[in-house]
Parts: sequence; structure tokens; C-alpha cells
Amino acid sequence: MNLKEKILADPEGKSLVNCFSCGMCTGGCPVARISDYNPRRIIHKVMLNMEPEDIWLCANCYTCEERCPTKTNVADLINLIRRITIKKDGMPEFIKPLVENLKTTGYTVQIGELENKRRERMNLPAVETTDEIKKIIQKTTLK
Ligand code: SF4
Ligand code: SF4
Repeated sequence: MNLKEKILADPEGKSLVNCFSCGMCTGGCPVARISDYNPRRIIHKVMLNMEPEDIWLCANCYTCEERCPTKTNVADLINLIRRITIKKDGMPEFIKPLVENLKTTGYTVQIGELENKRRERMNLPAVETTDEIKKIIQKTTLK
């Protein structure tokens, strides 16, 4: 099965066919605003049986899904493409430290004294590390 067929075979991939390439997703995407990243192009390339690029740049903010007039689940589709890619090629090296962080602290980014001091200056509560994610990972196949 190629990527498009794998996506359409997955319950989370059904909305792929909704896209009519209007570009509203890219227009609202914060990552597209500061780079060449383009979620519309990712969906379009999959539809054309081409390999999409830049799938790791999505910040999972879901703005694209809020804006999409055809209810295409753009962010979920990109996450599905990532999962399919990891199954096929393994996890990219640059993701591994983020996963380790997630396992040990509950966050993909380091949260330490410096970050919490910054939060304090913005009147935000300190972020505590948690092992809840670690427990979930241990109980699932995401090892
Ligand atoms: S907003 Fe929706 S329909 Fe328009 S290009 Fe993006 S995914 Fe396709
Ligand atoms: S979820 Fe990803 S693709 Fe969608 S708007 Fe946010 S960063 Fe862009």
C-alpha cells in the first residue's frame, strides 16, 4: 500500500478526500507564517501519491482544522502521516531526545528552574514534572 492508501485505510484518515486545496489551512498556520512549511501542500502531495516533505514542522496547534471549510482533519492527518512514516523508516534521530524528555518529565521540552523563573515573571504557575506520561507509555506499545 502506498501512503495515500494507508491513510485512507485508517479511521483517522478518512477526511483526506474532503480537501479541495483552498489553502485556508496554510493561511492560518503559524509555522507557515515564518517558513516555507505548507500544510495544504502536504495534503495535496499525498493525494497525488507523492511523498510530502516537512511533516515534522507541524506544531499541532490545530488552527488549520478550525479554519478548514471542508472539515479536513489536517493536523490529525499530518500526525497520521508521521506515525506511518515512523512505522516504515523508524523514528528520526532529532525526535529521540524529545521522546526521552516526554518519558522522564511529561513534556517534550526541558522544564527547569530557568523556564519556571520566566513563567513566574509572567504570573504563570510553575510547571512540575510528572511521571504520568511514563506510566501511559509503559502500559501501551509506545516504548
Ligand atoms: S483548508 Fe481544508 S480544504 Fe482548504 S487546503 Fe486546507 S485542508 Fe484542504
Ligand atoms: S496544526 Fe500544524 S499544520 Fe495545522 S496550523 Fe498548526 S502548525 Fe500549522
